[in-house]
Amino acid sequence: MAAVLKTPYFLVDEDDLIHNLEILKRVQDETGCHILLAQKCFSMYSTYPLLAKYLAGTTASGLYEAKLGYRYMAQPFGKENHVYAAAYLPEDLPYLAGYCDHISFNSVNQWLTYKELCQEAGVSTGIRINPEISTQEGHEIYDPCAKYSRMGVRKEEFLSAYQRGLLEGLKGIHFHTLCEQNSDALEQTLEVVEKNFGEVLKHMDWVNFGGGHHITRADYDLDRLISLIKHVKDCYQVEVYLEPGEAVALNAGYLEASVLDIVENDKQIAILDTSAACHMPDVLEMPYRPEVLGAGEEGEKKYSYLLAGPTCLSGDVIGGYSFDRPLKVGDRLTFLDMAIYSMVKTNTFNGMKLPAIYYRKGKEIKKIKSFDYEDFERRL
Ligand SMILES: *Cc1c(COP(=O)(O)O)cnc(C)c1O
Repeated sequence: MAAVLKTPYFLVDEDDLIHNLEILKRVQDETGCHILLAQKCFSMYSTYPLLAKYLAGTTASGLYEAKLGYRYMAQPFGKENHVYAAAYLPEDLPYLAGYCDHISFNSVNQWLTYKELCQEAGVSTGIRINPEISTQEGHEIYDPCAKYSRMGVRKEEFLSAYQRGLLEGLKGIHFHTLCEQNSDALEQTLEVVEKNFGEVLKHMDWVNFGGGHHITRADYDLDRLISLIKHVKDCYQVEVYLEPGEAVALNAGYLEASVLDIVENDKQIAILDTSAACHMPDVLEMPYRPEVLGAGEEGEKKYSYLLAGPTCLSGDVIGGYSFDRPLKVGDRLTFLDMAIYSMVKTNTFNGMKLPAIYYRKGKEIKKIKSFDYEDFERRL
């Protein structure tokens, strides 16, 4: 069935999504915490009616995501809508205060500037802190605790503002420090947050643990997460929020592509109708090598290839892979785990066509969107 659809396309699978959502719901049910979808990772709003059955709401990185969450989750399903940005545009604030029930600010200055507007609109406001504890290695661009980070207020500045009474009316603390991590990293982070901000936390309504919790990964230690959430709720009498992106749609999507040509330059190179630069930019940005269904590491199976895009960027190479049979023009390849940070990041560099978006529910495959020349022209 899938073989007749024109490549390239994304396919998101409902059963895989439900698998993740059941796990997230279990965490909420056992702890009373609130789990929000971080839309910057996965904004396929046609799935929001399903997500709304399991999650507490959505969170946004700015006005457009906040509006999307409002239109497709908060308003129709009565769910929560949060937003955080490193800085807000002044003209966006009145709209954000209309769309969102919780707004987190990145600095004391931004909070002071907009707190009255938020209070009048009945919005609960928070400030993002920088706990200054790095628990990840290798991905500096994803480490908000890295040197010179602009993300969050550090202890000294926060406590000084607090002690001077400047934070009167503040309802929440937000931190986000993790990326694809297990609950041991959260535990280390919480230890520092409690030590440095514990006194303040007692006077807050809520604390948001951010994203980067790989909760739905097979080796994730759920019991530890559950006990950490319970501990914070009991000890500080606060509502606890988590806002994972990846964990919601982990391993729930595929990117299907076809081989357009095979060339040789010391290695066999298969040129595909999909591009790392345009359709899966994290492959180059993070960087990482996505898994391909049925393929091994380069050299592992009999026939090895570099898989590459058709763009003029020399570095538009997805990675080295091997197969049991030689690839030929027209063969289809399935890239795994492509629901997250893919559709939200596609671009039309080189005038590349955007992959269509399909949804699989049981045996049925439904087209959600397809794109054409107009989408390219309209943006430029
Ligand atoms: C990126 C981000 C998230 C989601 O992170 P995942 O790694 O996708 O779970 C949540 N909150 C904030 C503030 C973020 O920047």
